Amino acid sequence: MITDTIKNEIDEILPGVVADRRHLHEHPELGFEENETSKFVIERLQALGVDDIRTGLAVTGVTALVHGTKPGEGKCVLLRADMDALPIVEENAVDYVSQNKGVMHACGHDAHTAMLLGVARVLMDNRDTFSGTVKLLFQPSEEQGTGGALPMIEQGVLEDPHVDAVFGQHVSSGDPTGEIHVAPGPNGAAADSWKITINGKGGHGAAPHQTVDPIIIATNIINALQTIVSRGVDPMAQTVVSVCNIHSGFADNVIPDTCELGGTVRTFDPKLRDFAQDRLTTIAETVAKSFGGSATVNYHRGYPATINDAEMSELVRLAAIEAVGEDMVKVGEPGMGAEDFSYFLENRPGCFWNVGTRNEERGIVWPHHHPRFDVDEDGMSHGIKTMVNVALTYLNS
Ligand SMILES: [Zn+2]
Ligand SMILES: [Zn+2]
Repeated sequence: MITDTIKNEIDEILPGVVADRRHLHEHPELGFEENETSKFVIERLQALGVDDIRTGLAVTGVTALVHGTKPGEGKCVLLRADMDALPIVEENAVDYVSQNKGVMHACGHDAHTAMLLGVARVLMDNRDTFSGTVKLLFQPSEEQGTGGALPMIEQGVLEDPHVDAVFGQHVSSGDPTGEIHVAPGPNGAAADSWKITINGKGGHGAAPHQTVDPIIIATNIINALQTIVSRGVDPMAQTVVSVCNIHSGFADNVIPDTCELGGTVRTFDPKLRDFAQDRLTTIAETVAKSFGGSATVNYHRGYPATINDAEMSELVRLAAIEAVGEDMVKVGEPGMGAEDFSYFLENRPGCFWNVGTRNEERGIVWPHHHPRFDVDEDGMSHGIKTMVNVALTYLNS
């Protein structure tokens, strides 16, 4: 679908995309506070002449439409970029370093936004090459709280016009520049957090028989939690249950009343998610009871797993091969990180893929959310080419 003319156009606009990315990098904003970012996006979209710009969705979110002029069936495809930054003090010595101290684009969402603006420009210039509609979606707050995806969906972004398929991409500091990694299935995990509060009965450290020791209960719960995965989950499936914090006591000769544990559960399979939550709760409550104490469990469900549709993943893989060459397209490995693009994928078929932006020679090797994270901007060319061709391929299929 993508022609050499379009590829050349993308190469030509790349300096502009890089400039946009650097502007956004210099002016990062936290989730649901992306006011200047949103304004910047709206101005760019207005200049391009796209249709039906809607603003203020889930506070700062923006959608807009590009209508193809080629006669045809008229499907609608959604392309998404997230816009938010993180509460991190940037440690990079670059001339586009964050001007908003304590806030930093340390996950590459500046690149996502800039790339989607580039995609919009290319699609506007080539409306005669596709039928149907491209819905551009700029989302707030992927990083924090309940995320921006779900409230945007609740505000109706998947309708009017009805969206048939959803696509998004994430830069990856783990993959070499320009490589496109497509995972046909799970791409990211569901991320849940939990707290267990154990209630015992405190007393003198020298008279344990008069107490219900919550620390002993905690150690038994921690041990038993290890069996959720090791004895409950198929060894070929993936689940993580981690105890990440434990708080109790204050003195060397006092058995405390309570002990608190906290941690995370990561799963791909919704059934395993239910299983882990259920077992964790049962273990905590019954182990505590068996020692004469009690436990209350507070289990918080975060983003669901990011599950790519098999057919849409194959479409992306083939579109990426056309766009950037077979040697640059790899089978993606699922990671245990979470991403709220998952909500779009729960509602529509689609695919979320990764674009490599790691460059050892340039020292761009730091992981996401690190104060020295950066993006090798050369990788954005392949990101734009892939996304443009995914839209063209889907709408013309
Ligand atoms: Zn992130
Ligand atoms: Zn991210």
